[in-house]
Amino acid sequence: MNKQTKILITGGAGFIGSHLCAQLIRDGHYVICLDNLFTGSKTNIAHLLNNPNFEFIRHDITSPILLEVDEIYNLACPASPIQYQLNPVKTIKTSILGAIHVLGIAKRVHAKVLQASTSEIYGDPLVHPQTESYWGNVNPIGERSCYDEGKRVAETLFFDYHRQNNVEIKVARIFNTYGPNMAKNDGRVVSNFITQALEDRPLTIYGDGSQTRSFCYIDDLITVLIKFMNTTDKSFTGPLNIGNPKEFTILDLAEKIIKMTNSKSPIKFEVLPSDDPKIRKPSIDLARKRLNWSPKIELTEGLEKTISYFTRRLRIENN
Ligand code: NAD
Ligand code: UDP
Repeated sequence: MNKQTKILITGGAGFIGSHLCAQLIRDGHYVICLDNLFTGSKTNIAHLLNNPNFEFIRHDITSPILLEVDEIYNLACPASPIQYQLNPVKTIKTSILGAIHVLGIAKRVHAKVLQASTSEIYGDPLVHPQTESYWGNVNPIGERSCYDEGKRVAETLFFDYHRQNNVEIKVARIFNTYGPNMAKNDGRVVSNFITQALEDRPLTIYGDGSQTRSFCYIDDLITVLIKFMNTTDKSFTGPLNIGNPKEFTILDLAEKIIKMTNSKSPIKFEVLPSDDPKIRKPSIDLARKRLNWSPKIELTEGLEKTISYFTRRLRIENN
């Protein structure tokens, strides 16, 4: 049997990270989950804590750390606009120093490293759908910049370590993803609308709801992240768009969730935050071609699973 692969997941106690930890353990690997628990929680990984192939390290990736691993998934960074704007200086430090620290580990121990980059690289895009070759339309000094520019510098660092130090990199540009293990107070649109609808509170639409997003269910994302990491062609670095290309307006989403939850909630229109992208939809031709991957889970099916998750969570909290 091959040697067990030792995998570091930074941000492993968060929404995406917790699913990735669980899947990689199911696949027979040894997983080190590193997290400072800013937006993640131990509840997300509670079922893994006693597993002999799982280790949790409470650590902030803005400080260096020495670890011997074969692969690294670098997910550490708050992803919700509300959360990443709470302490913008910390957010940009997390992206930039975090990238420097994981790339330093990768360089020293010859680990392969995947960066959880983002569709925010494209900012408020002027090209639709967004292809990997588009350089984006990002405000460098706005309220979203700590996240967008941090992630852009992280991509630069990944490519410079690759060119200068031969580090094996995979850069995944993730588009809006949703599912169980999102925090109730996370602030992103799917978790907000579902919890508001289940509690019969008004659904808060920012702006007039005509802005669009394309929503990928977590299971589809986990499949493709692992597939991408496992590619052996070292020149296949990405950037690679990952997401579901079906596009919806935020108003569509609100109405769908109200209907699916049989909620009495009204819709409440609130001020649109600055620099909120008006449209977003990935071109996933490259992922289709190179990985033979496309998302399988439709929005209705993914929302059903996510609504069940939040229904259970709210029931536990209210008891
Ligand atoms: P999340 O907020 O649930 O998870 C982020 C995790 O990183 C949390 O567990 C948090 O505690 C941890 N973290 C934050 N700062 C840290 C630090 N300084 N040191 C150590 N740990 C730290 O968000 P998520 O949706 O799971 O996102 C995971 C990654 O994927 C992020 O890098 C995000 O930018 C990227 N991404 C997510 C989406 C999406 O739609 N979910 C889209 C694009 C990119
Ligand atoms: N949004 C909204 N109501 C909410 C939360 C978000 O209308 O309660 C909007 C937000 O303005 C954006 C879209 O939904 O246009 C997606 O927001 P989210 O924070 O989930 O992610 P983003 O894609 O903006 O990073």
